[in-house]
Amino acid sequence: MTHHDAHGFSTRAIHVGQEFDPTTGAVIPPVHFSTTYAQDGIGNLRGGYEYGRGGNPTRDALQKQLASLEGGTHAFSFASGLAAEDALLRAVLRPGDHVLMGNDVYGGTHRLVRRIFGDWNIGLTTIELDDMAAVRSALADTGARVLWLETPSNPLMKITDITALAEVAHAAGALVVVDNTFATPYLQQPLGLGADVVVHSTTKYLGGHSDVIGGAVVTSDDELASKVGFHQFAAGAVSGPLDAWLTTRGIKTLAVRMDRHSASAHALASAIEGHSAVARVYYPGLPSHPGHELAARQMSDFGGMLSLELAGGAAAARAFAEGLHVFSLAESLGGVESLVNYPSEMTHASVRGTALEVSDAIIRLSVGLEDVDDLLADVQQSLARLG
Ligand SMILES: *Cc1c(COP(=O)(O)O)cnc(C)c1O
Repeated sequence: MTHHDAHGFSTRAIHVGQEFDPTTGAVIPPVHFSTTYAQDGIGNLRGGYEYGRGGNPTRDALQKQLASLEGGTHAFSFASGLAAEDALLRAVLRPGDHVLMGNDVYGGTHRLVRRIFGDWNIGLTTIELDDMAAVRSALADTGARVLWLETPSNPLMKITDITALAEVAHAAGALVVVDNTFATPYLQQPLGLGADVVVHSTTKYLGGHSDVIGGAVVTSDDELASKVGFHQFAAGAVSGPLDAWLTTRGIKTLAVRMDRHSASAHALASAIEGHSAVARVYYPGLPSHPGHELAARQMSDFGGMLSLELAGGAAAARAFAEGLHVFSLAESLGGVESLVNYPSEMTHASVRGTALEVSDAIIRLSVGLEDVDDLLADVQQSLARLG
């Protein structure tokens, strides 16, 4: 705990873990690349550091920053979002256990549990999470150890009620994990809503500049934290010092970036809703979105991601994506630059043929920080060319 605990989100994002260097006064703490630490006598450590897999000051700074922003007491950073998920799941599951998962979670999460954990006799059930009665009976039928959810979801921006699900899951003895990658702690705080653990792909909005892969686990449960910490150390999928530092630097501007991402996505979604080439816009900020009211309660704004369904089906979706110029055609999201993705063949190719399959008429946009007028004009010109 530090003197920053009472401060607001942006003050903590900028200062927690970032005390100036005591030896030089450098305002930005140095990046610690050393893999090992000199001992003054056997086992007599200067700062508690011994070997870089077990602990590194640059990684610790990121972990403090992440814990503070998510309102947790412990955070662990990893080499990728999936490495973080893997460490968390291995810390809590044993062969014979079961995972209950929203039917719209990140495809890589589904693949991890189905194809890697499946071989270790972990069961998986995917389910529509807005049907509480179905969730309650699935928890009872499967005896699930873990309920895994993601809100807003990808790519349909479905909104899930974290508070309600946490109550139902806890009554059944399940651990509630929320993947908070899309919302970020600036827009949504799952631990405060009853979740036990938050996971992140810091590759996305937290890093924010499409230049560093990383992941994190955050919790306020001491026992769970010691298990995850042990997996981080003993299995070793840690984030490297430069990756940790780049992520910390990105997080310092998270609040201002999310404000702009949200405002621009909202403007785009409103502008294209009702266009003759667009069958449907999926953005939780639109009153037409089925999760709009819940999102307004659960989040402080609606985020920078939106999807659209093209009236002309797959051919129109492809032509629209390839006809954009300011948006780059690429996987991933959450960077300063706008990206367009064709889920059915790009990000969601791994879930084709499963319950998580995405329609081939859907396009997903990650709305970046360019001038919103340029983004609007780009989307309008590509829609206009669909005829
Ligand atoms: C990208 C992503 C992941 C996986 O993270 P990596 O850093 O790519 O391993 C997990 N969840 C969500 C929601 C993501 O967008």
